[in-house]
Amino acid sequence: LQSRTVKAGELLFAEGDEADCAYVIESGEIEVTMRIEGIMRCVAVLGAGELVGDMGLVDDEPRSASAIATADSRLTIISRADLASKLAVADPLLRLLLEVSVKRLRAKLESLRAATPIPINTAAAVEVARLEGELKAGINSGQMQLYVQPIVDMRSHQIIGFESLVRWMHPITGLVRPDFFIPLAERSGLIVPLGRWVLREACHAALRFDREQNHAKMAGKSGFISVNVSAGQFHDPEFIPELASILRETKLNPERLQLEITESILSDTSAAKRWIAGCKKLGVRIALDDFGTGYSSLSYLHEFDIDTLKIDQSFVRRILEDKRSEKIIITIIQLSQALGLEIVAEGIETQPMFDRLAALGCHYGQGYLIARPSPIDAYFAAR
Ligand code: C2E
Ligand code: CA
Ligand code: CA
Ligand code: CA
Repeated sequence: LQSRTVKAGELLFAEGDEADCAYVIESGEIEVTMRIEGIMRCVAVLGAGELVGDMGLVDDEPRSASAIATADSRLTIISRADLASKLAVADPLLRLLLEVSVKRLRAKLESLRAATPIPINTAAAVEVARLEGELKAGINSGQMQLYVQPIVDMRSHQIIGFESLVRWMHPITGLVRPDFFIPLAERSGLIVPLGRWVLREACHAALRFDREQNHAKMAGKSGFISVNVSAGQFHDPEFIPELASILRETKLNPERLQLEITESILSDTSAAKRWIAGCKKLGVRIALDDFGTGYSSLSYLHEFDIDTLKIDQSFVRRILEDKRSEKIIITIIQLSQALGLEIVAEGIETQPMFDRLAALGCHYGQGYLIARPSPIDAYFAAR
């Protein structure tokens, strides 16, 4: 008998596929999902010793469900020919028994598909659990990809650094945006392994920019890489030790790494101060992201050892139409000058926005006008 290995996250077969073989799971875990009322639902989680994809083999119908590996798995293949040769010599009663039980199983699955909808909460919970499983498998099987977006000096137009933005290349759905899966990662705790992956990958990216990037375009200096850190990572006691070991391991100059945190983290003032101090001791820079959206910390901003403020896109977007947004940006720029902070305006989409921000004294900018986030490889290819 032949065997096959599938990586976590890999699709074994999809609903509707022709069924030409069944599998015995030797090791690992396979999740069987069915589309019920338009939503993919997990109908079984199978482990070592169990059989998957066996029905189609017996009754020659297309696959009635999809199977995805949720862990690296080793499978033994039972082909139709294998089965046919065994069945040919099997006791006719045994053969009948097999066919009848497969029919019964199929009918049961069909009734599941037609069943009255699961109450919304349960359905949502099942869906979230399924997505978490997929995200976990995705993180473990290389489906995450690091995108980068340049940050420029608005006076010289030179790139001074990059923000790293993670993407999930889902094997079926395709590219998934972080606005969808970061909250999922946060609530499931997967943000910790995901964040670690991003951090390590970002450090490697910075080193790669060093080797391959046009230095003239980077103001002749080594650019920095900015990495988003969310609440779950902030609360992870291993974050700072891990950060230290990643820096040691990659040998990246820590001054070239910037961590972006949001104001919500600062609400626990003493914990935030300790955390920032821990990061700064390692030599990395701290930016306050989405600045202006959580006004609470504005008055005691000076208490935190922060290097950069990133003006939230919502103000930048309205700068030309809305006097209040412009006033807020002017205030932020004045505040940053008083506190000796650098300012980055995010979400610059048009030339008039760029010009207005530059005229107001904003020195650094980021946005679609300058460049969209793109995979690091594409960045080098475009050069
Ligand atoms: P963010 O940190 O505020 O990142 C900026 C977002 O604005 C990015 O969305 C970026 O693609 C988008 N953007 C950049 N320029 C423009 C523009 O000119 N116009 C508009 N409309 N949008 C622009 P993205 O990549 O979808 O990321 C969304 C959020 O997901 C990020 O918001 C960040 O909070 C989070 N995120 C992304 N990567 C990571 C990560 O590695 N770790 C963590 N913890 N969070 C991440
Ligand atoms: Ca950010
Ligand atoms: Ca932001
Ligand atoms: Ca944001």
